[in-house]
Amino acid sequence: MSAHAATHDRLTVVIAAFNEADSLPLLQPRLAAVLDDLRDTHRLDCRVLYVDDGSADATWVVLQQLAAADPRIGLLRLSRNFGKELALTAGLDHVDEGGALILDADGQDPPELIPRFVDKWREGFDDVFGTRLEREGEGWLKRGTAHAFYRVIGRLSKTPIPADTGDFRLLSPRALAALRQLRERHRFMKGLFGWVGFNRVAVPYHREPRVAGASKFNYWRLWNLALEAITSFSTAPLRLATYLGLLTALVAFVYGAWVVGKALLFGDPVQGWPTMMAVILFLGGVQLIALGLIGEYLGRLYEEAKQRPLYLIDTWQPAAGVSSGRV
Ligand code: UDP
Ligand code: MG
Repeated sequence: MSAHAATHDRLTVVIAAFNEADSLPLLQPRLAAVLDDLRDTHRLDCRVLYVDDGSADATWVVLQQLAAADPRIGLLRLSRNFGKELALTAGLDHVDEGGALILDADGQDPPELIPRFVDKWREGFDDVFGTRLEREGEGWLKRGTAHAFYRVIGRLSKTPIPADTGDFRLLSPRALAALRQLRERHRFMKGLFGWVGFNRVAVPYHREPRVAGASKFNYWRLWNLALEAITSFSTAPLRLATYLGLLTALVAFVYGAWVVGKALLFGDPVQGWPTMMAVILFLGGVQLIALGLIGEYLGRLYEEAKQRPLYLIDTWQPAAGVSSGRV
């Protein structure tokens, strides 16, 4: 077998789990069945890597039971909750060879679709990502805001970020290696995948409702994720501040000239208290907005400058046949 073919016969499914004790026992049998099939039909050697993102419930106990029953399962436990993006980064860092596939622990990304991703990979694609045809079990507000978000980030960022794309995706070894080189602390994963590039293809699918438990992403977290995405992949807000400042200055010059001209021509009976208040408040507002924008970027710069590790590992328990040396 050629060296090129060899990179196509190992796949690791990486799953970040945060308080998913109820979902995992439902997901794993489905996943195991799919992986058994892949071994027989595609001659693909599969591993599963669960990352416990500092869960507070029985997730770790459940994971250990699952791992004891199936030697293909490897476990990684982070020292605390680092958030999905960092948990996934930790997982991807610990894939030792072959491709990696990212799956949600809650069954929203159906494992039954994995063979379709693998087929695309074998056709030569490096980044096979699932795009949602519809969002079942999600209200109009979430759908609407998600839609708006993808439009905004699509316009602001030069990096291609496909709409309605989750983290359900398969990365070829070279795409995975490229992604591993991006060590920024503020990680908007969809953008990072887009930045990597290579041959990309979408697999449309129906995203199912969660099998158990509740979504960890409320609107406040989603809003912060959106801010993260925009500040990580675009400096357009800073440009906007510049234009806002220019426009304000221009209006101020014209208005100033008019006020002075009027006073010279017609004298100046002291007046204009309401106008002055309006102008002061307006300028104060514009300045604070611009300061806030700069602050958003400055704060992120500060976080990056500290050069802290992205995550800390509590326990690393590799699957059978996976080298334990990798970090
Ligand atoms: N997740 C995680 N760390 C967190 C939050 C979520 O690892 O801090 C995992 C979670 O267990 C699930 C995936 O990320 O496997 C997606 O989370 P969720 O289903 O809550 O998000 P949604 O599907 O609503 O976007
Ligand atoms: Mg979910």
